[in-house]
Amino acid sequence: MLRATDLQYQYPQGEAFRFPDLNCPVASQWLILGPSGSGKSTLLHLLAGLLSPTGGELSLNDERYDQLSGSGLDAFRGRHIGMIFQRSYFVASLRVRENLDLAQQLSKQKVDKPANRALLEELGIGRHANKYAHQLSIGEQQRASIARGLVNRPSLLLADEPTAALDAANAKIVSRLLRERAAELNAILLVVTHDERLLPDFEHVIRLGDVKS
Ligand code: ADP
Ligand code: MG
Repeated sequence: MLRATDLQYQYPQGEAFRFPDLNCPVASQWLILGPSGSGKSTLLHLLAGLLSPTGGELSLNDERYDQLSGSGLDAFRGRHIGMIFQRSYFVASLRVRENLDLAQQLSKQKVDKPANRALLEELGIGRHANKYAHQLSIGEQQRASIARGLVNRPSLLLADEPTAALDAANAKIVSRLLRERAAELNAILLVVTHDERLLPDFEHVIRLGDVKS
């Protein structure tokens, strides 16, 4: 269960946000819709422990993590949380499969090269494992991003506008892969986006209204 209670964030000398409470059971899949500037990325960064909330509480499977910091937070994130961004940030000088291995290494997990290779196969891009990210199409890059988000078999999978840069066909594929892989891991899936094309794919939908306080 992911719980966010009275979650707040104030950018230094900037806007203040107060987010709706989240109570997401294991294996549930959520779409959080909102227009540009409504605080979607801010929310996702808070849930990922990449920003520290200025108020409220966060817990995953009854483990509070809003007050963790430094290596404790890094270890928690590495063990439990997978992130997928709108655009893929790969190390340009490493092959796709090496980027997966690196992500695992950086999150202090045991590197499992065969499993990472198999993951690329499962996402339909096994034949690109030895290429560099720039040699892949945008849709293939986004599948590689999903693979990287999955390397540590997270219990919470967070995706920030994963389909925004994709055409209809690729958006469908990426949405399906995210939902299938999350279900296979029993992970909670949370997608934030302004992309209304994803609406029919999700059972749980939250619209971020005016969350600026
Ligand atoms: P969304 O992802 O829905 O487009 P964001 O969470 O990225 O929205 O940003 C919401 C608002 O928060 C932005 O309009 C901006 O005003 C503010 N904001 C975002 N990042 C920063 C930052 N680093 N410093 C100050 N304000 C920020
Ligand atoms: Mg955003």
